[in-house]
Amino acid sequence: MPLKEQNYWLTTVEFPKADPGPKSGPLPEVVDVAVLGAGFTGLSAARTLAQRGATVAVLEAETIGWGASSRNGGMVLTGMKLGVNQLISMYGRELTQRMYAASLASMDCVEQMVQEEKIDCGFARCGHLEVACKQKHFDDYARQAEVIAREFHHTLRVVQKNDLPGEIGSTIYYGGLVDETSAGCNPARYVAGLARAAMKAGAQIYERARVQTIERDSHHGEPGWKLSTGAPDAPVRGTPRRTRASAALWAHEVFVATSGYTGRATPALQKKIIPIGSFIITTEVLPEKLAHELSPRNRMIYDSKNYLYYYRLTPDRRMLFGGRAAFFPETDQTIRRSAEILRCGMIDVYPQLADAKIDYVWGGTLDFTFDIMPHAGEMNGLYYALGYAGHGVAMATYQGQKIAELMAADRAGGAKPDNPFVGIPFPGAPLGLYNGNPWFLPLAGAWYKFLDWVS
Ligand SMILES: Cc1cc2nc3c(=O)[nH]c(=O)nc-3n(C[C@H](O)[C@H](O)[C@H](O)COP(=O)(O)OP(=O)(O)OC[C@H]3O[C@@H](n4cnc5c(N)ncnc54)[C@H](O)[C@@H]3O)c2cc1C
Repeated sequence: MPLKEQNYWLTTVEFPKADPGPKSGPLPEVVDVAVLGAGFTGLSAARTLAQRGATVAVLEAETIGWGASSRNGGMVLTGMKLGVNQLISMYGRELTQRMYAASLASMDCVEQMVQEEKIDCGFARCGHLEVACKQKHFDDYARQAEVIAREFHHTLRVVQKNDLPGEIGSTIYYGGLVDETSAGCNPARYVAGLARAAMKAGAQIYERARVQTIERDSHHGEPGWKLSTGAPDAPVRGTPRRTRASAALWAHEVFVATSGYTGRATPALQKKIIPIGSFIITTEVLPEKLAHELSPRNRMIYDSKNYLYYYRLTPDRRMLFGGRAAFFPETDQTIRRSAEILRCGMIDVYPQLADAKIDYVWGGTLDFTFDIMPHAGEMNGLYYALGYAGHGVAMATYQGQKIAELMAADRAGGAKPDNPFVGIPFPGAPLGLYNGNPWFLPLAGAWYKFLDWVS
Protein backbone atom coordinates (compact mmCIF):
# COMPACT_ATOMS: atom_id res chain seq x y z
CA MET A 1 0.00 0.00 0.00
CA PRO A 2 1.48 3.45 -0.86
CA LEU A 3 2.04 5.86 2.05
CA LYS A 4 -1.19 7.67 2.90
CA GLU A 5 -1.16 11.12 4.47
CA GLN A 6 -4.08 10.16 6.63
CA ASN A 7 -4.81 9.46 10.29
CA TYR A 8 -4.77 5.67 10.66
CA TRP A 9 -7.20 5.73 13.61
CA LEU A 10 -9.87 7.25 11.38
CA THR A 11 -9.90 4.05 9.30
CA THR A 12 -11.06 2.15 12.39
CA VAL A 13 -14.02 4.26 13.52
CA GLU A 14 -17.48 5.42 12.63
CA PHE A 15 -18.49 8.77 14.16
CA PRO A 16 -22.07 9.39 15.25
CA LYS A 17 -24.13 11.77 13.17
CA ALA A 18 -24.21 15.18 14.83
CA ASP A 19 -26.94 17.78 14.55
CA PRO A 20 -26.93 19.46 11.15
CA GLY A 21 -25.22 22.73 12.11
CA PRO A 22 -25.82 26.23 10.84
CA LYS A 23 -25.45 25.33 7.17
CA SER A 24 -28.57 23.20 6.96
CA GLY A 25 -30.28 23.63 10.30
CA PRO A 26 -30.48 26.54 12.71
CA LEU A 27 -28.65 26.62 16.00
CA PRO A 28 -30.89 26.79 19.05
CA GLU A 29 -31.58 30.40 20.06
CA VAL A 30 -30.84 29.93 23.75
CA VAL A 31 -28.96 27.30 25.73
CA ASP A 32 -27.69 27.03 29.27
CA VAL A 33 -24.14 26.19 28.13
CA ALA A 34 -22.30 26.54 24.82
CA VAL A 35 -19.18 24.37 24.58
CA LEU A 36 -16.51 25.23 22.01
CA GLY A 37 -14.81 22.10 20.64
CA ALA A 38 -15.92 18.48 20.31
CA GLY A 39 -12.83 16.71 21.63
CA PHE A 40 -12.28 14.85 24.90
CA THR A 41 -12.60 18.04 27.00
CA GLY A 42 -15.70 19.48 25.38
CA LEU A 43 -17.59 16.19 25.04
CA SER A 44 -16.80 15.03 28.56
CA ALA A 45 -18.03 18.41 29.86
CA ALA A 46 -21.14 18.31 27.66
CA ARG A 47 -22.05 14.86 28.98
CA THR A 48 -21.73 15.91 32.63
CA LEU A 49 -23.61 19.17 32.11
CA ALA A 50 -26.45 17.49 30.20
CA GLN A 51 -26.68 14.74 32.83
CA ARG A 52 -27.23 17.52 35.39
CA GLY A 53 -30.13 18.88 33.40
CA ALA A 54 -28.47 21.75 31.49
CA THR A 55 -29.31 22.40 27.84
CA VAL A 56 -25.97 22.12 26.05
CA ALA A 57 -24.84 22.98 22.50
CA VAL A 58 -21.38 21.76 21.51
CA LEU A 59 -20.12 23.98 18.67
CA GLU A 60 -17.34 22.30 16.69
CA ALA A 61 -15.51 24.19 13.95
CA GLU A 62 -14.89 20.99 11.98
CA THR A 63 -16.28 17.56 12.82
CA ILE A 64 -16.56 15.49 16.01
CA GLY A 65 -13.08 14.56 17.27
CA TRP A 66 -11.39 16.47 14.43
CA GLY A 67 -8.69 17.97 16.71
CA ALA A 68 -5.99 16.22 18.73
CA SER A 69 -8.51 13.82 20.29
CA SER A 70 -8.65 11.55 17.23
CA ARG A 71 -5.03 12.10 16.20
CA ASN A 72 -3.07 11.11 19.30
CA GLY A 73 -1.13 8.02 20.33
CA GLY A 74 -3.92 6.71 22.56
CA MET A 75 -1.62 6.58 25.59
CA VAL A 76 -3.65 7.04 28.77
CA LEU A 77 -0.85 8.17 31.03
CA THR A 78 -0.27 8.96 34.67
CA GLY A 79 1.46 12.09 35.74
CA MET A 80 1.97 15.37 33.98
CA LYS A 81 4.58 16.53 31.54
CA LEU A 82 6.86 18.03 34.21
CA GLY A 83 8.88 15.86 36.58
CA VAL A 84 7.81 15.57 40.21
CA ASN A 85 10.79 17.42 41.65
CA GLN A 86 10.11 20.37 39.40
CA LEU A 87 6.42 20.29 40.36
CA ILE A 88 7.27 20.28 44.06
CA SER A 89 9.64 23.21 43.60
CA MET A 90 6.96 25.16 41.69
CA TYR A 91 3.90 24.35 43.82
CA GLY A 92 5.08 22.83 47.12
CA ARG A 93 4.36 19.34 48.41
CA GLU A 94 0.71 19.61 49.32
CA LEU A 95 -0.51 21.04 46.01
CA THR A 96 1.73 18.68 44.02
CA GLN A 97 0.28 15.75 45.95
CA ARG A 98 -3.22 16.87 44.97
CA MET A 99 -2.13 17.29 41.34
CA TYR A 100 -0.60 13.85 41.23
CA ALA A 101 -3.68 12.32 42.83
CA ALA A 102 -5.79 14.08 40.19
CA SER A 103 -3.62 12.69 37.42
CA LEU A 104 -4.15 9.15 38.78
CA ALA A 105 -7.87 9.84 39.18
CA SER A 106 -7.98 11.03 35.56
CA MET A 107 -7.08 7.53 34.35
CA ASP A 108 -9.78 6.00 36.55
CA CYS A 109 -12.14 8.58 35.05
CA VAL A 110 -11.41 7.30 31.51
CA GLU A 111 -11.82 3.68 32.63
CA GLN A 112 -15.12 4.47 34.31
CA MET A 113 -16.34 6.41 31.27
CA VAL A 114 -15.46 3.49 28.97
CA GLN A 115 -17.27 1.05 31.24
CA GLU A 116 -20.35 3.18 31.94
CA GLU A 117 -20.84 4.17 28.32
CA LYS A 118 -19.68 0.80 26.91
CA ILE A 119 -17.19 2.48 24.59
CA ASP A 120 -15.53 -0.07 22.35
CA CYS A 121 -12.05 1.50 22.16
CA GLY A 122 -9.76 -1.31 23.35
CA PHE A 123 -9.02 0.41 26.69
CA ALA A 124 -6.46 -1.79 28.50
CA ARG A 125 -4.22 -1.18 31.53
CA CYS A 126 -1.10 -2.37 29.72
CA GLY A 127 1.22 0.03 31.58
CA HIS A 128 3.77 2.45 30.19
CA LEU A 129 7.53 2.23 29.86
CA GLU A 130 9.81 5.26 29.83
CA VAL A 131 13.22 4.47 28.36
CA ALA A 132 16.45 6.32 29.18
CA CYS A 133 18.46 7.74 26.28
CA LYS A 134 21.44 8.49 28.54
CA GLN A 135 22.97 6.94 31.65
CA LYS A 136 22.22 10.07 33.70
CA HIS A 137 18.56 9.93 32.66
CA PHE A 138 18.47 6.36 33.92
CA ASP A 139 20.21 7.29 37.17
CA ASP A 140 17.42 9.80 37.76
CA TYR A 141 14.70 7.10 37.44
CA ALA A 142 15.50 5.56 40.83
CA ARG A 143 15.32 9.02 42.46
CA GLN A 144 12.00 9.77 40.76
CA ALA A 145 10.53 6.41 41.77
CA GLU A 146 11.61 7.01 45.36
CA VAL A 147 10.00 10.50 45.50
CA ILE A 148 6.80 9.26 43.87
CA ALA A 149 6.53 6.35 46.32
CA ARG A 150 7.21 8.59 49.33
CA GLU A 151 5.13 11.62 48.37
CA PHE A 152 2.32 10.08 46.34
CA HIS A 153 2.22 6.43 47.50
CA HIS A 154 2.41 5.33 43.89
CA THR A 155 4.74 2.53 42.77
CA LEU A 156 6.98 2.71 39.70
CA ARG A 157 9.40 -0.06 38.77
CA VAL A 158 12.96 0.68 37.63
CA VAL A 159 14.13 -1.70 34.87
CA GLN A 160 17.88 -2.27 34.62
CA LYS A 161 19.41 -2.39 31.14
CA ASN A 162 19.93 -6.18 31.47
CA ASP A 163 16.22 -6.66 32.06
CA LEU A 164 15.06 -4.43 29.22
CA PRO A 165 14.61 -7.28 26.69
CA GLY A 166 11.59 -8.37 28.73
CA GLU A 167 10.07 -4.95 28.06
CA ILE A 168 11.30 -3.80 24.65
CA GLY A 169 13.07 -5.28 21.64
CA SER A 170 15.57 -2.43 21.34
CA THR A 171 19.16 -2.29 22.57
CA ILE A 172 19.77 1.47 22.43
CA TYR A 173 18.49 2.43 25.86
CA TYR A 174 20.19 2.55 29.28
CA GLY A 175 17.24 1.23 31.27
CA GLY A 176 13.58 1.96 31.88
CA LEU A 177 10.85 2.98 34.29
CA VAL A 178 7.51 1.15 34.28
CA ASP A 179 4.16 2.36 35.54
CA GLU A 180 1.70 -0.52 35.45
CA THR A 181 -1.35 1.70 35.92
CA SER A 182 -1.18 3.51 32.58
CA ALA A 183 -3.41 2.33 29.78
CA GLY A 184 -3.82 2.32 26.02
CA CYS A 185 -6.85 2.86 23.82
CA ASN A 186 -7.94 3.68 20.30
CA PRO A 187 -8.44 7.46 20.71
CA ALA A 188 -10.72 7.96 17.69
CA ARG A 189 -13.08 5.27 18.92
CA TYR A 190 -12.90 6.77 22.38
CA VAL A 191 -13.82 10.29 21.24
CA ALA A 192 -16.61 8.90 19.02
CA GLY A 193 -17.91 7.04 22.10
CA LEU A 194 -17.74 10.22 24.18
CA ALA A 195 -19.79 12.04 21.52
CA ARG A 196 -22.43 9.29 21.64
CA ALA A 197 -22.46 9.51 25.44
CA ALA A 198 -22.87 13.31 25.40
CA MET A 199 -25.72 13.03 22.89
CA LYS A 200 -27.36 10.25 24.91
CA ALA A 201 -27.26 12.55 27.94
CA GLY A 202 -29.09 15.19 25.89
CA ALA A 203 -26.32 17.48 24.56
CA GLN A 204 -26.58 18.66 20.98
CA ILE A 205 -23.45 18.70 18.82
CA TYR A 206 -23.13 21.09 15.87
CA GLU A 207 -20.37 20.38 13.36
CA ARG A 208 -18.90 23.00 10.96
CA ALA A 209 -19.92 25.60 13.53
CA ARG A 210 -16.78 27.65 14.16
CA VAL A 211 -17.39 30.24 16.84
CA GLN A 212 -16.16 33.59 15.53
CA THR A 213 -17.05 35.96 18.34
CA ILE A 214 -18.20 35.75 21.95
CA GLU A 215 -19.72 38.90 23.43
CA ARG A 216 -21.33 39.64 26.77
CA ASP A 217 -25.05 40.05 26.23
CA SER A 218 -28.20 39.76 28.27
CA HIS A 219 -31.35 37.84 27.46
CA HIS A 220 -34.63 38.79 29.15
CA GLY A 221 -32.52 40.59 31.73
CA GLU A 222 -30.26 37.59 32.43
CA PRO A 223 -26.51 38.03 31.94
CA GLY A 224 -24.84 35.71 29.45
CA TRP A 225 -23.08 35.50 26.11
CA LYS A 226 -23.91 35.92 22.45
CA LEU A 227 -21.87 33.60 20.22
CA SER A 228 -21.63 34.06 16.46
CA THR A 229 -20.62 31.24 14.16
CA GLY A 230 -19.91 31.51 10.47
CA ALA A 231 -17.36 31.08 7.75
CA PRO A 232 -13.89 30.13 9.00
CA ASP A 233 -11.58 32.90 10.12
CA ALA A 234 -8.44 31.16 8.93
CA PRO A 235 -7.57 28.23 6.66
CA VAL A 236 -7.76 25.06 8.73
CA ARG A 237 -5.24 22.33 8.31
CA GLY A 238 -5.98 19.01 6.72
CA THR A 239 -9.63 19.15 5.65
CA PRO A 240 -11.48 20.63 2.71
CA ARG A 241 -13.45 23.70 3.81
CA ARG A 242 -17.14 24.21 3.48
CA THR A 243 -18.61 27.62 3.98
CA ARG A 244 -21.88 28.08 5.76
CA ALA A 245 -24.28 30.79 6.66
CA SER A 246 -23.50 32.64 9.86
CA ALA A 247 -25.68 32.08 12.89
CA ALA A 248 -25.89 33.17 16.49
CA LEU A 249 -26.90 31.67 19.78
CA TRP A 250 -27.21 32.97 23.32
CA ALA A 251 -25.79 31.00 26.25
CA HIS A 252 -25.82 31.55 30.00
CA GLU A 253 -22.33 30.12 30.22
CA VAL A 254 -19.52 29.23 27.81
CA PHE A 255 -16.92 26.48 28.14
CA VAL A 256 -13.86 26.84 25.90
CA ALA A 257 -12.37 23.42 25.05
CA THR A 258 -10.30 24.26 21.98
CA SER A 259 -6.86 23.08 23.15
CA GLY A 260 -4.05 23.54 20.57
CA TYR A 261 -6.59 24.94 18.09
CA THR A 262 -7.55 27.87 20.31
CA GLY A 263 -7.99 30.90 18.06
CA ARG A 264 -9.22 34.44 17.70
CA ALA A 265 -12.64 33.83 19.25
CA THR A 266 -10.91 33.70 22.65
CA PRO A 267 -7.89 36.04 22.31
CA ALA A 268 -6.95 36.05 26.01
CA LEU A 269 -6.60 32.25 25.99
CA GLN A 270 -4.96 32.18 22.56
CA LYS A 271 -2.10 34.28 23.96
CA LYS A 272 -1.45 31.67 26.67
CA ILE A 273 -1.32 28.64 24.35
CA ILE A 274 1.60 27.66 22.14
CA PRO A 275 0.42 25.37 19.33
CA ILE A 276 3.13 22.76 18.71
CA GLY A 277 3.04 20.06 16.04
CA SER A 278 3.34 16.37 16.81
CA PHE A 279 3.44 13.72 14.11
CA ILE A 280 2.85 9.99 13.85
CA ILE A 281 3.59 7.20 11.37
CA THR A 282 2.26 3.67 11.41
CA THR A 283 3.86 0.71 9.67
CA GLU A 284 2.09 -2.00 7.77
CA VAL A 285 0.60 -4.83 9.90
CA LEU A 286 3.58 -6.72 11.38
CA PRO A 287 3.99 -10.48 11.78
CA GLU A 288 2.92 -11.61 15.25
CA LYS A 289 6.40 -12.81 16.22
CA LEU A 290 8.07 -9.53 15.24
CA ALA A 291 5.43 -7.44 17.02
CA HIS A 292 5.95 -9.49 20.19
CA GLU A 293 9.72 -9.04 19.96
CA LEU A 294 9.36 -5.24 19.62
CA SER A 295 7.01 -4.81 22.57
CA PRO A 296 6.59 -8.06 24.52
CA ARG A 297 4.21 -6.52 27.07
CA ASN A 298 2.40 -4.22 24.67
CA ARG A 299 3.43 -1.15 26.68
CA MET A 300 2.87 2.51 25.84
CA ILE A 301 6.51 3.61 25.38
CA TYR A 302 8.27 6.98 25.30
CA ASP A 303 11.87 8.07 25.71
CA SER A 304 13.54 10.48 28.10
CA LYS A 305 14.40 13.32 25.70
CA ASN A 306 12.69 16.71 25.47
CA TYR A 307 12.39 16.14 21.71
CA LEU A 308 10.99 12.72 22.48
CA TYR A 309 9.71 9.71 20.53
CA TYR A 310 6.60 7.86 21.71
CA TYR A 311 5.47 4.55 20.31
CA ARG A 312 3.23 1.53 20.76
CA LEU A 313 1.64 -1.31 18.83
CA THR A 314 -1.85 -0.77 17.48
CA PRO A 315 -4.45 -3.48 18.16
CA ASP A 316 -3.92 -4.79 14.60
CA ARG A 317 -0.13 -5.01 15.20
CA ARG A 318 1.21 -1.95 13.42
CA MET A 319 4.04 -0.02 15.03
CA LEU A 320 2.71 3.47 15.73
CA PHE A 321 5.67 5.83 16.11
CA GLY A 322 5.32 9.51 16.96
CA GLY A 323 7.39 12.53 17.78
CA ARG A 324 7.95 16.21 17.36
CA ALA A 325 9.52 15.80 13.91
CA ALA A 326 8.70 19.44 13.13
CA PHE A 327 7.81 22.01 15.77
CA PHE A 328 5.24 23.80 13.62
CA PRO A 329 1.69 22.43 13.56
CA GLU A 330 0.52 20.09 10.83
CA THR A 331 0.54 21.21 7.20
CA ASP A 332 0.94 19.05 4.07
CA GLN A 333 4.61 20.02 4.11
CA THR A 334 5.37 19.29 7.78
CA ILE A 335 3.46 16.00 7.58
CA ARG A 336 5.36 14.82 4.50
CA ARG A 337 8.72 15.80 6.00
CA SER A 338 7.85 14.08 9.27
CA ALA A 339 7.25 10.71 7.61
CA GLU A 340 10.91 10.36 6.69
CA ILE A 341 12.26 11.86 9.93
CA LEU A 342 10.11 9.50 12.02
CA ARG A 343 10.96 6.47 9.88
CA CYS A 344 14.69 7.11 10.50
CA GLY A 345 13.99 7.57 14.23
CA MET A 346 12.01 4.34 14.33
CA ILE A 347 14.79 2.38 12.64
CA ASP A 348 17.33 3.79 15.10
CA VAL A 349 15.18 2.35 17.88
CA TYR A 350 14.15 -0.81 16.02
CA PRO A 351 16.57 -1.82 13.24
CA GLN A 352 14.24 -4.84 12.80
CA LEU A 353 11.80 -2.47 11.08
CA ALA A 354 14.21 -1.33 8.33
CA ASP A 355 12.13 -3.08 5.67
CA ALA A 356 8.70 -2.43 7.16
CA LYS A 357 6.50 -0.31 4.93
CA ILE A 358 5.03 2.90 6.34
CA ASP A 359 1.31 2.95 5.59
CA TYR A 360 0.11 6.16 7.29
CA VAL A 361 1.46 9.52 8.42
CA TRP A 362 -0.46 12.38 10.03
CA GLY A 363 -0.02 15.26 12.43
CA GLY A 364 -1.87 17.15 15.11
CA THR A 365 -1.43 20.17 17.34
CA LEU A 366 -0.44 20.07 20.99
CA ASP A 367 -1.42 22.80 23.44
CA PHE A 368 1.64 23.85 25.39
CA THR A 369 1.41 26.61 27.98
CA PHE A 370 4.36 28.74 29.04
CA ASP A 371 4.76 26.73 32.27
CA ILE A 372 3.98 23.36 30.57
CA MET A 373 1.06 22.79 32.97
CA PRO A 374 -2.64 22.13 32.44
CA HIS A 375 -4.84 25.07 33.39
CA ALA A 376 -8.55 25.19 34.05
CA GLY A 377 -11.12 27.47 35.60
CA GLU A 378 -12.64 30.78 34.59
CA MET A 379 -11.07 33.66 32.68
CA ASN A 380 -12.96 36.89 31.91
CA GLY A 381 -16.19 35.03 32.70
CA LEU A 382 -15.51 32.12 30.29
CA TYR A 383 -14.81 28.64 31.64
CA TYR A 384 -11.93 26.73 30.07
CA ALA A 385 -9.61 23.72 30.42
CA LEU A 386 -6.50 23.23 28.31
CA GLY A 387 -2.69 23.03 28.30
CA TYR A 388 -2.30 19.26 28.45
CA ALA A 389 1.05 19.30 26.55
CA GLY A 390 0.70 15.81 25.07
CA HIS A 391 -0.78 14.27 28.24
CA GLY A 392 -4.41 14.97 27.47
CA VAL A 393 -6.24 11.70 26.90
CA ALA A 394 -6.94 11.19 30.58
CA MET A 395 -6.56 14.77 31.85
CA ALA A 396 -8.85 16.30 29.20
CA THR A 397 -11.61 13.82 30.02
CA TYR A 398 -11.16 14.57 33.71
CA GLN A 399 -10.99 18.35 33.38
CA GLY A 400 -14.07 18.37 31.15
CA GLN A 401 -15.96 16.64 33.93
CA LYS A 402 -14.50 18.70 36.77
CA ILE A 403 -15.09 22.08 35.13
CA ALA A 404 -18.63 21.02 34.27
CA GLU A 405 -19.11 20.21 37.97
CA LEU A 406 -17.63 23.61 38.87
CA MET A 407 -20.07 25.35 36.50
CA ALA A 408 -22.98 23.48 38.05
CA ALA A 409 -21.76 24.40 41.55
CA ASP A 410 -21.29 28.08 40.61
CA ARG A 411 -24.82 28.18 39.21
CA ALA A 412 -26.52 26.35 42.06
CA GLY A 413 -24.30 27.78 44.79
CA GLY A 414 -23.12 24.32 45.90
CA ALA A 415 -19.69 23.12 47.02
CA LYS A 416 -16.99 23.42 44.36
CA PRO A 417 -15.24 20.18 43.33
CA ASP A 418 -11.58 19.84 44.30
CA ASN A 419 -9.44 20.65 41.28
CA PRO A 420 -5.80 21.49 41.97
CA PHE A 421 -5.32 23.00 38.51
CA VAL A 422 -7.89 25.74 39.10
CA GLY A 423 -6.39 28.97 40.38
CA ILE A 424 -2.70 28.18 39.89
CA PRO A 425 -0.82 31.07 38.22
CA PHE A 426 -1.33 30.95 34.43
CA PRO A 427 1.66 32.76 32.93
CA GLY A 428 1.71 34.35 29.49
CA ALA A 429 4.76 34.97 27.32
CA PRO A 430 7.74 36.72 28.92
CA LEU A 431 7.42 40.48 28.28
CA GLY A 432 4.05 39.79 26.63
CA LEU A 433 5.85 39.10 23.33
CA TYR A 434 3.17 36.81 21.88
CA ASN A 435 -0.16 37.45 20.28
CA GLY A 436 -1.01 33.86 19.29
CA ASN A 437 1.42 33.64 16.36
CA PRO A 438 4.23 31.37 17.60
CA TRP A 439 7.12 33.10 15.80
CA PHE A 440 9.59 31.68 18.34
CA LEU A 441 8.97 27.98 17.60
CA PRO A 442 12.19 27.46 15.59
CA LEU A 443 14.14 28.99 18.51
CA ALA A 444 12.30 26.81 21.02
CA GLY A 445 12.95 23.73 18.87
CA ALA A 446 16.67 24.54 18.70
CA TRP A 447 16.75 25.18 22.46
CA TYR A 448 15.19 21.78 23.28
CA LYS A 449 17.56 20.01 20.86
CA PHE A 450 20.43 21.76 22.66
CA LEU A 451 19.07 20.65 26.06
CA ASP A 452 18.84 17.05 24.80
CA TRP A 453 22.45 17.28 23.76
CA VAL A 454 23.79 18.62 27.05
CA SER A 455 21.45 17.06 29.62
C1 LIG B 1 -0.07 13.76 17.46
C2 LIG B 1 -0.54 13.82 18.89
C3 LIG B 1 -0.27 12.77 19.74
C4 LIG B 1 -0.71 12.80 21.07
N1 LIG B 1 -0.54 11.68 21.86
C5 LIG B 1 -1.06 11.67 23.11
C6 LIG B 1 -1.01 10.49 23.89
O1 LIG B 1 -0.57 9.43 23.42
N2 LIG B 1 -1.48 10.54 25.17
C7 LIG B 1 -2.04 11.68 25.68
O2 LIG B 1 -2.44 11.68 26.85
N3 LIG B 1 -2.17 12.81 24.93
C8 LIG B 1 -1.71 12.81 23.66
N4 LIG B 1 -1.88 13.92 22.88
C9 LIG B 1 -2.61 15.08 23.44
C10 LIG B 1 -4.13 14.85 23.42
O3 LIG B 1 -4.52 14.33 22.19
C11 LIG B 1 -4.83 16.20 23.66
O4 LIG B 1 -4.34 16.75 24.86
C12 LIG B 1 -6.34 16.05 23.80
O5 LIG B 1 -6.87 15.38 22.69
C13 LIG B 1 -6.98 17.44 23.92
O6 LIG B 1 -8.37 17.28 23.81
P1 LIG B 1 -9.29 18.55 23.69
O7 LIG B 1 -10.69 18.08 23.62
O8 LIG B 1 -8.96 19.51 24.77
O9 LIG B 1 -8.85 19.25 22.32
P2 LIG B 1 -9.00 18.79 20.80
O10 LIG B 1 -9.28 17.35 20.66
O11 LIG B 1 -7.82 19.33 20.06
O12 LIG B 1 -10.32 19.53 20.35
C14 LIG B 1 -10.40 20.92 20.19
C15 LIG B 1 -11.48 21.20 19.14
O13 LIG B 1 -11.82 22.57 19.18
C16 LIG B 1 -12.26 22.92 17.88
N5 LIG B 1 -12.24 24.39 17.77
C17 LIG B 1 -11.17 25.21 17.78
N6 LIG B 1 -11.57 26.51 17.69
C18 LIG B 1 -12.92 26.48 17.63
C19 LIG B 1 -13.92 27.51 17.53
N7 LIG B 1 -13.60 28.82 17.46
N8 LIG B 1 -15.23 27.14 17.47
C20 LIG B 1 -15.58 25.83 17.56
N9 LIG B 1 -14.67 24.82 17.65
C21 LIG B 1 -13.37 25.15 17.69
C22 LIG B 1 -11.25 22.23 16.96
O14 LIG B 1 -11.78 22.06 15.66
C23 LIG B 1 -11.05 20.90 17.71
O15 LIG B 1 -11.81 19.85 17.17
C24 LIG B 1 -1.42 13.93 21.56
C25 LIG B 1 -1.69 15.01 20.70
C26 LIG B 1 -1.27 14.95 19.38
C27 LIG B 1 -1.56 16.10 18.47
